[in-house]
Amino acid sequence: MIPNFYIYNTLSRTKELFKPIHPGMVGMYVCGPTVYGDAHLGHARPGVTYDVLFRLLKHIGYKVRYVRNITDVGHLENDADEGEDKIAKKARLESLEPMEVVQTYTLRYHEAMKKLNVLPPSIEPHASGHIIEQIALVQKILDAGFAYISNGSVYFDVQKYNEKHHYGVLSGRNLEDTKEGTRNLDGQDDKHSPMDFALWKKASPEHIMHWPSPWSEGFPGWHLECSAMGEKYLGEEFDIHGGGMDLMFPHHECELAQNVASRGTGGVHYWMHNNMITINGQKMGKSLGNFITLDELFSGSHPLLEQAYSPMTVRFFILQAHYRSTLDFSNEALQAAEKGLRRMMQAAKDVKGIPVTAGAPAAPQVKAVKEQVYDALLDDLNTPNALSALFEAVKMVNSAKDGSVKLNEEDASVLKSLFADIVGGVLGLVEEQSDSASAKVIEGLMDMVIDFRRTAKAEKNWAVSDKIRDELKAIGIQIKDTKDGGCEWTLAD
Ligand code: ZN
Repeated sequence: MIPNFYIYNTLSRTKELFKPIHPGMVGMYVCGPTVYGDAHLGHARPGVTYDVLFRLLKHIGYKVRYVRNITDVGHLENDADEGEDKIAKKARLESLEPMEVVQTYTLRYHEAMKKLNVLPPSIEPHASGHIIEQIALVQKILDAGFAYISNGSVYFDVQKYNEKHHYGVLSGRNLEDTKEGTRNLDGQDDKHSPMDFALWKKASPEHIMHWPSPWSEGFPGWHLECSAMGEKYLGEEFDIHGGGMDLMFPHHECELAQNVASRGTGGVHYWMHNNMITINGQKMGKSLGNFITLDELFSGSHPLLEQAYSPMTVRFFILQAHYRSTLDFSNEALQAAEKGLRRMMQAAKDVKGIPVTAGAPAAPQVKAVKEQVYDALLDDLNTPNALSALFEAVKMVNSAKDGSVKLNEEDASVLKSLFADIVGGVLGLVEEQSDSASAKVIEGLMDMVIDFRRTAKAEKNWAVSDKIRDELKAIGIQIKDTKDGGCEWTLAD
């Protein structure tokens, strides 16, 4: 039996009992990064949030297909319909082929996510690999009468759509709000109305990423890819669509309108949005000088940082806030998170060898803590409440360790599974070994092995000393006797 999971749906603005379309299975789609620069704090929060959702749904028994896309075409500067493609611009500035930019930053994004212990999604489609699907989708919207061709480009007709459906249903706007919020820019003569958005753009001569289409040599509009790839991999209707709050309008609003226009359904049953990260109370932005990449955070190499913060500290810090609340980064808050994480990880280590007293009476708090942890996570991913309940479990582990509390076998195993399945499994908090720490361990082990070999040689036990040398060689370690009777080791290439 899969337990009840409650999820806040941006579309209905209420917390709902989660009911998947197909029993036992969940399809989820999350808007991934536009890969034209290093992964930064703004990527860490959705990365970790939807990773915990993915892990939790699997943990409670669902089979999950998690699609997270890579945007590598069509995302123009300022999220607008005019201006340079973000990736093409980077390629021009660095004299690279656009796909070199995409490859470089996709790999770096993957590295950063791996450090944060974010699991890879089930499918990671690229927008540029789905041009055919996007062209077919534009044609469908044209056929349905909700788009028009203008000078080789195709635009979505917002006004016409709004006569039949509600444009703004997701972000809670009406057409008047949308009109007021849209600037009437020069050079947008191709559009009938400044509210309309591009489905297909005719490429200007200097635009380097373009494909043939029935309308022009051009490229798809940014919002189109998620409609096309969501349908392709999850079906006309699927369960969960996630992303940052900044994507709700216009990106997700347009995606929803495209879905309705092309297939008569919004397609998504639960829309989920994570709130934003601020830095010392300010919005993060390149012009504000508070734009921190994840590499800078992990190495401490940004003027705003007092020290380096490990990936697990950052992950723990993100989990300390509910995903729908804003999260403010400051050195004090991160240092507090670092301490909290250390306590949690120490208990995760100690619980493995926790003393068990046969016949000890059951400790009712153990069962209560387990319930609190699950209740919190199943209540719209309330990770801060889950963590505070888990700190009660930390206290119990410490009391059992110092002997002030005696635990029976069953309670001990409940505590063990809380740390293994929830702390490590669902929250993804694991012991991290810095490079220097693992180097220290290897150094110590090699000293020990070389010492064994020295003893063997002193005892003229050539069989053992040769065996040590040969077996080290087999795993890529070369040892060499030095003239002074010592021994050196190197890693073979
Ligand atoms: Zn998207």
